[in-house]
Amino acid sequence: MRTDDIFYDKDADLSKLQGKTVAVLGYGSQGHAHALNLKDSGVDVVVGLRPDSASRAKAEAAGLEVLEIADAASRGDVVMVLLPDEKQAEVWEAEIADGIAPGSLLLFAHGFTIHFEQILPPPGVDVGMVAPKGPGHLVRRQYEEGRGVPCLMAVHQDASGDAHDLVLAYAAGIGGGRAAIIETTFKDECETDLFGEQAVLCGGASELVRAGFETLVEAGYDPRLAYFECLHELKLIADLMYEKGIQGMRYSISNTAEYGDMTRGKRVIGKESRAAMKQILDQIQSGEFAKEWIAENRAGGESFDRMREEASGHQVEEIGGELRKTMPWLDTDF
Ligand code: NAD
Ligand code: MG
Ligand code: MG
Repeated sequence: MRTDDIFYDKDADLSKLQGKTVAVLGYGSQGHAHALNLKDSGVDVVVGLRPDSASRAKAEAAGLEVLEIADAASRGDVVMVLLPDEKQAEVWEAEIADGIAPGSLLLFAHGFTIHFEQILPPPGVDVGMVAPKGPGHLVRRQYEEGRGVPCLMAVHQDASGDAHDLVLAYAAGIGGGRAAIIETTFKDECETDLFGEQAVLCGGASELVRAGFETLVEAGYDPRLAYFECLHELKLIADLMYEKGIQGMRYSISNTAEYGDMTRGKRVIGKESRAAMKQILDQIQSGEFAKEWIAENRAGGESFDRMREEASGHQVEEIGGELRKTMPWLDTDF
């Protein structure tokens, strides 16, 4: 394993951020986690939000100073853009660009807008990325528990000559250095992230769950059994894989389950699924996916809204909503 591009707390110098103000734009999944973790790491943070933002009260209650996006962008020596990827270009033009003075560090948590040239930062500023490999809520929770979510970091533009160390300090400030910070490029982060969420984590996993659930229900089985078997238990298996790898997970399941796993899994994810994965990756690399997603947003996101609506009506959501009510320890809000 390469070790010259992987960093930990001991390699990061948080004092690089002393005397600087970090502006976190957005207070959603990633925004709240970055702002609060940096603050707890002793960094001077301001949050940039729309004037009517519902998150303003939450951020202020957590002791953060909240400014309008444009004011935060010009106040920050380091400006982290944690707005939805599809909104970044328009907000950049209208409210961020003017405030980014030469010598500042512009940061992103995903390579999309830079790699697909939706934002063209001016020369004279550093441009970097700190992309946690986990949802924002975990980035916050793990930090509070003294742990950290692994992060990818990258430098796209190094005007100051110090961009690497500054980006690394930021990544450590949100807790990444407690786990691992791997240095990569905007291109590789962006393409692997899109592939992972489309083929495996989100697209692949949700379709696998729905297909399994539907197969059992169509065969006449109780939908509650189908829900527990195909959705609820997935977390228990995923947790084992996360902690011990695939073979470690297999150690914990019964021999019957392990034999079924090894003899049947490849039928579910066979040649056709692997060819689909390859095609999905091709469309990411060629920019075809980015073009489609940008066009969808320009057109007002109607088909995105329609697909969301349709998916919410699926039987697995209805039955799951009922069953989760009896498990009050689950965080069921979204
Ligand atoms: P989010 O949707 O949870 O939050 C976005 C924030 O931006 C909210 O505070 C929202 O109110 C604000 N906002 C939305 N539209 C706006 C506008 N037009 N003007 C000003 N503010 C606006 O987003 P997120 O999931 O935290 O994603 C932020 C970035 O982090 C993205 O680049 C994403 O790819 C990246 N990222 C997300 C995750 C994740 O788990 N959610 C993981 C890694 C990286
Ligand atoms: Mg992503
Ligand atoms: Mg079983």
